[in-house]
Amino acid sequence: MLLKMEKTEVLIIGGGIVGLLTAYMLNKNYNVILISDGNLKKAASWGNAGLIAPSFGAPMPNIFGFSSLIRIILGLNKVIKLRFVFLLKKFYPDMVMLIKFKDKLVNSLNIIREMALESAKLTEKIIIEEKLDVDFKRTGILEVYINKANFEEDIKEIEKYLGKVNVRSASECIEEEPLLKRNIYGGIFYEDDSWLDPAKLMISLRNLLTRKGIKIVNGNVKSFRTLKDKVISAKLNGEEILADNFVVACGAYTPKLLANINLKIPIFAGRGYTVLTNPILKKLRKPVICGEYRIAISQRVQGNFKISGIFELTKPEDKEDKSLYNLLKEKSSLYIDTISELNLEERWMGSRPCTPDGLPLVGYTTYKNLIIASGHCRLGLTLAAITGKIVKELLEDKESKFFNLLSPSRFKL
Ligand SMILES: Cc1cc2nc3c(=O)[nH]c(=O)nc-3n(C[C@H](O)[C@H](O)[C@H](O)COP(=O)(O)OP(=O)(O)OC[C@H]3O[C@@H](n4cnc5c(N)ncnc54)[C@H](O)[C@@H]3O)c2cc1C
Repeated sequence: MLLKMEKTEVLIIGGGIVGLLTAYMLNKNYNVILISDGNLKKAASWGNAGLIAPSFGAPMPNIFGFSSLIRIILGLNKVIKLRFVFLLKKFYPDMVMLIKFKDKLVNSLNIIREMALESAKLTEKIIIEEKLDVDFKRTGILEVYINKANFEEDIKEIEKYLGKVNVRSASECIEEEPLLKRNIYGGIFYEDDSWLDPAKLMISLRNLLTRKGIKIVNGNVKSFRTLKDKVISAKLNGEEILADNFVVACGAYTPKLLANINLKIPIFAGRGYTVLTNPILKKLRKPVICGEYRIAISQRVQGNFKISGIFELTKPEDKEDKSLYNLLKEKSSLYIDTISELNLEERWMGSRPCTPDGLPLVGYTTYKNLIIASGHCRLGLTLAAITGKIVKELLEDKESKFFNLLSPSRFKL
């Protein structure tokens, strides 16, 4: 069956936060259809830590120095994992690319920060204007350390690109967050950052888009029909949907889909894990980051701790490593006492879409009407709103300093 949109305009593929907020941004001026896998939990946007972190976040962990790579390969790094078979079979070419683009990562931090600050404002505005029920809180984020050397080393590193940070002594950290253990050495407070429930955000955005008249099709795009340098339609479940423009926002699954039309996309998965404990009455005042392990601890309104972290380099569809759920509990218990006594009620794993230079890929491909909007790695929730805005500007042929910086052409696609 051949379906034609009445006022054919933009077909967005991927219903994670990037696809959803892009649909939201385009809705006023375009006729939008959004296609997404019906299994919402498959999206990285579902179970992430929920931090909107323009100050705290760096897009990628530092895995590039020779010694850090060796530590990762030998399994000595507790929270960055690399499966050996994967290294040999799949990751090797990506790794070469990563090393090639290593120096660009530092430059990326400034660009990301500028994007993230604007994006955080946009996100908050949408949440307020649209009255989204997502448990949004602008409390700031407290990153804490238990080891003096790690604390001092990280402050130096962070201040290189953020400028002066808000350092807190052990007693100030505990005063700010009484659930912390007394072994905390010190912390950094990121006062502009906020957090929300990402699963609630996905659901409320889907409902909002539907109310605004956007058609959401649950399905999996298998490939495209192309004619010369244009995409004509997307093929899924025996249907074909025609459109003028296509936006692929499939996160870590983007390379697999676009390989069908011979685009080699340099996005790899940095898989992360999340656990939810049983609920307790005591309340965290703000999200806490365990500095040594980059594990985020927040708390749902119902009282469950949500613990997220790990960076596992492997294919999105590989089997989960169940031991990593317990690792999250074990390491976060070093910072908050109560966690060791709690049960894990839910476990989730998702794939961060990462690029070798730490910048997202947002721009046209060699197909003149196909835009990629992906590759946000650890900051996709934070950067989704500005990504939607940039996609709109691309479609409207406007000027933006971000076009060149984020363009897929930097990888010679
Ligand atoms: C543990 C963890 C913690 C994180 N914490 C944070 C955080 O605190 N703050 C932050 O900013 N970021 C965080 N991130 C990163 C963030 O979650 C991601 O960068 C972001 O969700 C990526 O969004 P996306 O829309 O690009 O991809 P996704 O959310 O993965 O969505 C892609 C969607 O496309 C669908 N899809 C794939 N292929 C097809 C196809 N062929 N046809 C149709 N649909 C398809 C998928 O099913 C999925 O629904 C975290 C990630 C993890 C894993």
